[in-house]
Amino acid sequence: MNKPQSSKKPKNPAKRKMLFQSPRGMHDILPLDQLWWEKLEKTAKDTAAFYNFRRIEPSIVESEELFKRALGETSDVVEKQLYVLKSEGGLVLRPEFTASMVRAYLQHGLQHLGQPLKLYAMGPVFRHESPQAGRYRELHQLDFEIFSSESDPIYDAQIILALQRFVKNLKVKNVTTYVNTIGCRSCRPGYRRKLLEYYGRHEKELCADCRRRISRNPFRLLDCKDENCVKLKIDAPNILDNLCAACSRHFKAVLEFIEEVKIPYIVTPHLVRGLDYYNRTVFEMFAEGFDFAIAGGGRFDDLAGMLGGKATSATGGAIGLERVLEVMKTGDLKPSMGRAKSKIFLVYVGDLAKKKTLALMEEFGETGVLVAESLGKESLKAQLRAADKSGAALALILGQKEVFEETIILRDLKSGNQETVPLTKIIAEVKKRLK
Ligand SMILES: [Zn+2]
Ligand SMILES: [Zn+2]
Repeated sequence: MNKPQSSKKPKNPAKRKMLFQSPRGMHDILPLDQLWWEKLEKTAKDTAAFYNFRRIEPSIVESEELFKRALGETSDVVEKQLYVLKSEGGLVLRPEFTASMVRAYLQHGLQHLGQPLKLYAMGPVFRHESPQAGRYRELHQLDFEIFSSESDPIYDAQIILALQRFVKNLKVKNVTTYVNTIGCRSCRPGYRRKLLEYYGRHEKELCADCRRRISRNPFRLLDCKDENCVKLKIDAPNILDNLCAACSRHFKAVLEFIEEVKIPYIVTPHLVRGLDYYNRTVFEMFAEGFDFAIAGGGRFDDLAGMLGGKATSATGGAIGLERVLEVMKTGDLKPSMGRAKSKIFLVYVGDLAKKKTLALMEEFGETGVLVAESLGKESLKAQLRAADKSGAALALILGQKEVFEETIILRDLKSGNQETVPLTKIIAEVKKRLK
């Protein structure tokens, strides 16, 4: 005989039943948000098609070494934000697209697709940051890249244009592009020396992070958010005074192109973007009233070479979809219901009819006519109520009698008129009525 074992029951059953939560900084995209996401995805595809970008989806898991080499060991992303897989050494979840895009471009010899080659990707990236408004650990990006034989400023402008068109089509207004150049391999070393000299004189005022990275990467100091470092930045040497002639021409041309199409921009001489692969043009985009960048990017002519490939000019940019969504939700655009309304509602009475109705629904599936049902409800009344609520024009009602006679009742939900139709003719009859 079983004795009651109340004494062995856990003292706090509520604790034992605690529900699982998604990990910090990760998020579920719920059914009601799917309308917004469908709008984002469709607009992304349309924008890409307009500028002739072709889709590529690089793998989500990459080697850690790829990002160390491309982004730099001192970058925040590599130093602090990589998700390293436990199962296999040296693999990480991708923190961004550009390095993966170039890796895929070189690995698959995509230069054979012709030049310039415009590629885009859309999907999740992962960064172990402290979650806050507009900042997630799992985020989605739309990424545009252009590979070309020459380092042509027109492509920098086209990347900015494509991103601008994307947000414009989503009715996101008042987006400003902050743009800068960080020079090239021939002019940057001179600028680097000047930065080292300047920050060397102010070393005691720097934050601990900056003191540590000053000799390895003085450019990163311009990126620091520490209050003192931000102040010091004001008088730091200006890259624009230290460019070589080619970089100077390149930058001027980029500005002329975006000026021509009236893109609002601000030249921001201390913008550096904190990743090793950039050269020349770098940019970030902000929507008015939001303190996070919604997009960013730049040119990376040296990256293919850094990854062991043939030197290839390239430029690109990525936009954070969660961030755009946050801005969109404050705007005018309200996405409409994703699924078209069903015109037909299927109603049954009794088990046999339930079975037949399931089959009838599949028959409609072949015709492309959208149908709705509530096959889980037993009562006729409840089903008819659901039919009315659905906004369907017609209800098809199958009862015991109709199953035996191989007929079905067709009811006009507006007028309430109904008639009996042979089951074999019902699809043709419905199609006729819907016309
Ligand atoms: Zn240069
Ligand atoms: Zn600092």
